[in-house]
Amino acid sequence: MSRVVVVGAGTMGNGIAHVFAQHGWDAVLLDVSRAALDQAFQTITGNLERQVKKGAVTSQQKETTLLRITTATSLDGAAQADLAVEAATEQPEVKFRLFHDLDAAMPAAAILASNTSSIPITTIAAQTRRPDRVIGMHFMNPVPVMPLVEIVRGLETSDETMHRTVEIARALGKTPVAVNDSPGFVSNRVLMPMINEAIFCVMEGVATVEAVDTVMKLGMNHPLGPLALADLIGLDVCLAILEVLHRDLGDDKYRPCPLLRRMVAAGRLGKKSGRGFHDYGL
Ligand code: NAD
Repeated sequence: MSRVVVVGAGTMGNGIAHVFAQHGWDAVLLDVSRAALDQAFQTITGNLERQVKKGAVTSQQKETTLLRITTATSLDGAAQADLAVEAATEQPEVKFRLFHDLDAAMPAAAILASNTSSIPITTIAAQTRRPDRVIGMHFMNPVPVMPLVEIVRGLETSDETMHRTVEIARALGKTPVAVNDSPGFVSNRVLMPMINEAIFCVMEGVATVEAVDTVMKLGMNHPLGPLALADLIGLDVCLAILEVLHRDLGDDKYRPCPLLRRMVAAGRLGKKSGRGFHDYGL
């Protein structure tokens, strides 16, 4: 039996713990907030129930999966873990502190992975004494549904860590794609400028939110419009990623749209807060 510590029980952390537990791992879900852990456990239960209704998993598999997940507010369970997947708030100082602590708490052979969308893996790795065993495992939202995991290789990541992480992602039923450590990797380097441009279109009155999303859905065959997708990702997460792209690539084409900044300042963070570009009736 393998054990993973998933750090951060928000949008991504609950999905990551769900997928690992469903594929036979003991998963310790860790957060500073007890409320976030309770909410995450409820979300996982609801998502598994939906999978049972669809016939994707049996009731027995649902129960076994839930039994494999424990929750924690400290790193006590980390000493027995083979892998950490960090999915905490997208702030460098939060992640740097966490990697320092994970490095101290976990066995020397364990791999420390981050689900960061934009913070350099090489810089995160430098907070530890094992930069060769630090890597990016960039899952997509919603994790149980989306097949891609971008595997991000830092400057010091070893071949062995790379191979092992690719194998783990495959064993979770995902499709790993290897990329090098560069701001935004591939996914957000391409996606975020599109979302930002969609927000500029709304701010400049080029078209309404509905119109922008409909053009991209029906015209480009995207399953979701860019503004609905931004709401799903979280507008605070989108803003943080654009700020990193802007700063680290040094090109003004990545400057965050002022309307995005205003939405975040007002607490309209998208689906998770009940309101973003669209209304989620909370
Ligand atoms: P979120 O805000 O929904 O959840 C973050 C959680 O981390 C919160 O529950 C918070 O209490 C917890 N947390 C903060 N500091 C902590 C600490 N020191 N120890 C333990 N827990 C802590 O965020 P999210 O959308 O799930 O994003 C998590 C990570 O995944 C970020 O790095 C983000 O860039 C990345 N990501 C997000 C998406 C997405 O679509 N939302 C997609 C891919 C990657």
